[in-house]
Parts: sequence; C-alpha cells; structure tokens
Amino acid sequence: MLSCRHLIGRFLVRRQASTQARLASPGIVEIDEADGQRLKYPQVWLRDNCQCTECFHATTRARKSNWERGPLHVGAQRVSYDEQCQQLQVHWQDEHKSVYELQWLRERDFGDAARQKYLDEVYRPPVQLWGKTQFEEVRREFLYQNVLDRDDVLKAWLEALAVQGFALLKDAPDDENVARRLAERIGYIKRTTYGDVFEVKSKPNAGNYAYLMVPLPLHTDMPYYEYKAGINILHTLVQSESAGGANTLVDGFHVAAEMRRLYPQEFEVLRSVPVNWYDIGHDGDQARPFHSLWRAPVVCLDVDGQVVRINQNTTKRDSRFTVPIEQAVAWYEAYDRFLRLAHDEIVEFKTRPGDVFVFNNLRMLHGRTAYEDSPQNKRHLVGAYVDWDIIYSKLRTLRFPQAHE
Ligand SMILES: [Zn+2]
Repeated sequence: MLSCRHLIGRFLVRRQASTQARLASPGIVEIDEADGQRLKYPQVWLRDNCQCTECFHATTRARKSNWERGPLHVGAQRVSYDEQCQQLQVHWQDEHKSVYELQWLRERDFGDAARQKYLDEVYRPPVQLWGKTQFEEVRREFLYQNVLDRDDVLKAWLEALAVQGFALLKDAPDDENVARRLAERIGYIKRTTYGDVFEVKSKPNAGNYAYLMVPLPLHTDMPYYEYKAGINILHTLVQSESAGGANTLVDGFHVAAEMRRLYPQEFEVLRSVPVNWYDIGHDGDQARPFHSLWRAPVVCLDVDGQVVRINQNTTKRDSRFTVPIEQAVAWYEAYDRFLRLAHDEIVEFKTRPGDVFVFNNLRMLHGRTAYEDSPQNKRHLVGAYVDWDIIYSKLRTLRFPQAHE
C-alpha cells in the first residue's frame, strides 16, 4: 500500500475547497478538483491500471494484473479522495484496493486537453507545414560538431527534423564517415539494399537513376519499402562547379494539405489508389541482387486522418498497375494535379562541401538539378538513413531524461 505520511505535514496547512471523488454511472469515476476541474476515468481503466505491487511491476513499467479475473468484470464498490495524501482510493467488489496519485491521474485525464498535450509533448511534436515563401523562416542550421558534442543541439536538430522536416548542418569535416557518425549519434543506421552508407556520384554502369548526372525529379527515397527510410542524411564532400547539382525541396505534407483543401476528390483518389513501387537490380558490380516491391498510395494517412507518408518516385513506379482500369485513369489525373502543386512549391539551394543536408524522407520531396562532372571536379555525396522509431525515441530521451532513470 502506498503511504503518504511524509506529505501530511505539508498539506495540512492548506485548507481550501476540497476535491471530491464519486462513482458516476455508467462505469465512470469522477473527480471534481477544488479549482472546478472535473477529471473522468472509466472504472475498467482504473482497475486495468492499478498501481499496486500485485498489479504493476514498477521497475519494468509493466502491467502484471491477471486479465482473467478482471478488470472488465469487477466493479468499484466505493471511491474516496484523500485530501492529505492527494490520492484517489478505490475499493473494488473483490476486496482489492487501489490508490492513485492525483498528479498521475491528471496526466492521464481522458479530456481533450490532456490527451492532446500528451500527443504533442510526448508522442510527436506537431509538424509545421510550409510553402516556398516560408522557406527562410523554417530553415534551421546547426554546426556539425555541436550536434556531436552537445545534447541540447542534438535535441534542437531532431526537433527541426520532426517539425520543419529538414535542417542543414554546417562545417562537417572532409571525411566519408560523417553521415555514419551522425546516424550513430542518433542511434542506429538503417541498412538497406544500398548498404549502410551510400555514395551519390556519377558512376559508370549506374544501378540507380540517382547515380547519373541527369536532373533527378522530385521524389522520396524508397517508396518500394514497407519500412521506408525515415530520414536521409546527405553529406556533401565535393560539390559540382558546374551550374547544376543544386538540391530541390518541397514539403510534401504541405502539398497534400493544399490538395485536400483545393481538390478533395483528387486527394481522395491519391490517398486510396495503391501504386506498385519497385526497385530491381543490384548495387555495384559485386553486390547481391535485389527485388523490392511495395504497394501503397502516394499519400498515406494515419488513424487520425493525418498525412504520415508520401510515396513518390517516377523512376521507381512499376508499369504493372494492379488496380481496376477506371481507377488507373482517375489516378493519373490526381497524380498530375499533385505534381503540379508540388512543382509550384519547389525551393532550390546548392550545398557546399562540409554541408550535411538532412530531411524527413517520409515527408520531403527532393531532387537535384542536372550537373556536369569534369576530370578535376566530380560531385560526391555520402548518405545514410535512420528510422523515425529511433529518432523519436532519442528525442524523448533528451526531452524527458528522468523518465528512463
Ligand atoms: Zn492492484
């Protein structure tokens, strides 16, 4: 049983309007706080989340209550609020007793505000959509070495990736391990069919369209993966001295939002018609062959109806379009609309040696203008990927260091 004896002295002196708890039907426990706030919890949830040592293993944060003997079938007999301990106490029909700290309950309130606060502060920071006129305002720069050395800078960088969708790191050394080092600073590199790091340069016998000097149209990497790479870390070692080789970038979530607002029917087609994305080949002469294939719409929504992933890569779209013929025709029109909207929002900038351009690969459409290598100047980038599971996890450990002590 939890004891609050150490708190009694402190709270005895405060005597204000008191907090009340009561059983409210059907199956709801209500707490009216002294300030007028009403907190509500399903009884079944309270029982399911009993914090006693019998029901909950605190050090592993694991529920261990026996599902078979509850919580669905055991009702609360009575509830009370202990003002001195600031605890809700619940006596259950099977003689079990649960005690919940008020602060713990407040954080888990089922009201809209508390739920949204948790989603925004702990789950994922809300994204900030942007069009090309806002580019300078959303653009964030950090020094490479600061990201490696300082947790506050690492946190700010990861927040920029989560919120604005991209960031530029400056002054990285002329070293092929920069992208790998950044991935490992976050957590773990994502290995793909292109290796754990990949080199973007013009190659003879190129196995991928990106390894040519031609313009690279707006795309996201790896639409052909179910577990698509979360962020792309692109370190510029050598930039082209020719006019081209510039990055193009568009906020794909913004484009999808605009399309949803302006052309809802075409948006519906784009989010519902699956496209076959594929990648067949081998990376380099010695590497193992691959045959990647993933069927998914251009715009993917989550359970809340929010856009969570954009799939777009003209060079990786299979000619096998396995949908009914009417859908195929409607899809082409919707796709054309999407790409036109995207092209209107393109920003262009050219990285310099030592720049590391990092962006959310689920969100940002990116490309490159055509360039020309010369014998003395061969454009050379090294890239690596990291998954969002790893990034959000790292971000939460930085934001809430006390949570995993
Ligand atoms: Zn219990």
